Amino acid sequence: MNNHSLSKLTRTYVFALSLIALLTLATFITMHLVILTQADSARLVNVSGSQRFLSQKTAVLSFELVYTLKSSDRDLLRQELLSTIVQIQKNFQELVTDRTQMISLHQLSPKMQKMYFDAPHNMQTRMSQYTTEALALANEPVHLLTLDNPHLTYIIQNRENLLESLDQIVLLYQQESEAKIQRLEIVETASGGIILLALAYLGLYIFRPLANTLLKERAQLEHANQELRLLSSVDGLTSIPNRRSFDQFLSQLWPQAARNAEPIALILCDIDLFKAYNDTYGHLQGDDCLKKVAVALKDSMKRQVDFVARYGGEEFVVVLSNTNLDGATTVAETLRANVENLAIPHRLSSISPSVTISLGVAIGYANSALSPEKLIEAADNALYQAKQDGRNRFVSVINPLS
Ligand code: GH3
Ligand code: MG
Ligand code: MG
Repeated sequence: MNNHSLSKLTRTYVFALSLIALLTLATFITMHLVILTQADSARLVNVSGSQRFLSQKTAVLSFELVYTLKSSDRDLLRQELLSTIVQIQKNFQELVTDRTQMISLHQLSPKMQKMYFDAPHNMQTRMSQYTTEALALANEPVHLLTLDNPHLTYIIQNRENLLESLDQIVLLYQQESEAKIQRLEIVETASGGIILLALAYLGLYIFRPLANTLLKERAQLEHANQELRLLSSVDGLTSIPNRRSFDQFLSQLWPQAARNAEPIALILCDIDLFKAYNDTYGHLQGDDCLKKVAVALKDSMKRQVDFVARYGGEEFVVVLSNTNLDGATTVAETLRANVENLAIPHRLSSISPSVTISLGVAIGYANSALSPEKLIEAADNALYQAKQDGRNRFVSVINPLS
């Protein structure tokens, strides 16, 4: 994944997260508004209930005030009537005109305003008229406190109207708040739905491609690592295993052969008079010769377990597991002959007209008490002997470890 599409993905991711945050906030506000609306509704029902009770109480107190004969009782009733009226006015203030309250004038719907101020219900006029009449009655001199008192008559006649107005208001308010809650619920459901969609979008179009990219990049990295491992174990010039690989191979084979009490044959091969070859044909052709010899040695291996590596310079090493002297000498001779048969011209060679190799063969039983270096050393000595004996040949040594 390139930087451009990655930053595009990041931008989309940030956008989707912001959207979710915004919608969560919207859902929270909506829920808050639903709660407030319900609280308002409850408060209105409470205050209206209280108004209902107080207006009834006003009527009863007005009757009692007219009927009572004791002046002390009358004074008490006057006081009680006055405080009831004050309470009614306070409630009304809270319902309609108090702007600090939730249900204030500016929040009243047009329908509600009509209910408060216009005929036929005109709650405000009815309420203020009712309280004015009750107030007048409460302050009426004793001789006017009769059953036909016009204030009392008004209170009796209009009590029902007032109750009706109150009931209408509660009903309307409840209808309005229900509609409002329904609208808020739609907003809430829509935000919830969009949040879910945004989450699904995030999962499908952000996280999935991101996870896929990560997996793909990990696979690529593993592949690169594998190639690197391979490169570090393969000789750059000849493409056969290198010295490091040989060391690893032998150190793994060693304890295994020791356990199975199997012999290991190690053959060191060295191109004869290669310095002279380089001097004659140049270093590049020398490299080419090394490659051809490597292929010939590799192709001479019969078994899958046989191992050939470039030991360094113009030297190669062959490891034959579970191989005795007969097997090892056969292989050594094959190796020698196959290189000679390549017939790579070597003008300056005093041994042969073409490139040849000398080989040192060492066969030994691996021993956990001894290191594989001893076997290499023995093969090196045998190789030295082969050079001494005239090159283009092999010399073997058995059981150098014992
Ligand atoms: P001997 O028969 O005793 O082995 O003689 P020699 O000339 O082969 O041995 P010597 O050790 O004197 O020379 C080895 C030469 O191999 C010297 C070096 O330049 C050459 N050589 C080593 N590695 C490479 C390589 O990677 N490419 C080339 N072209 N030559 C190499
Ligand atoms: Mg050499
Ligand atoms: Mg040499």
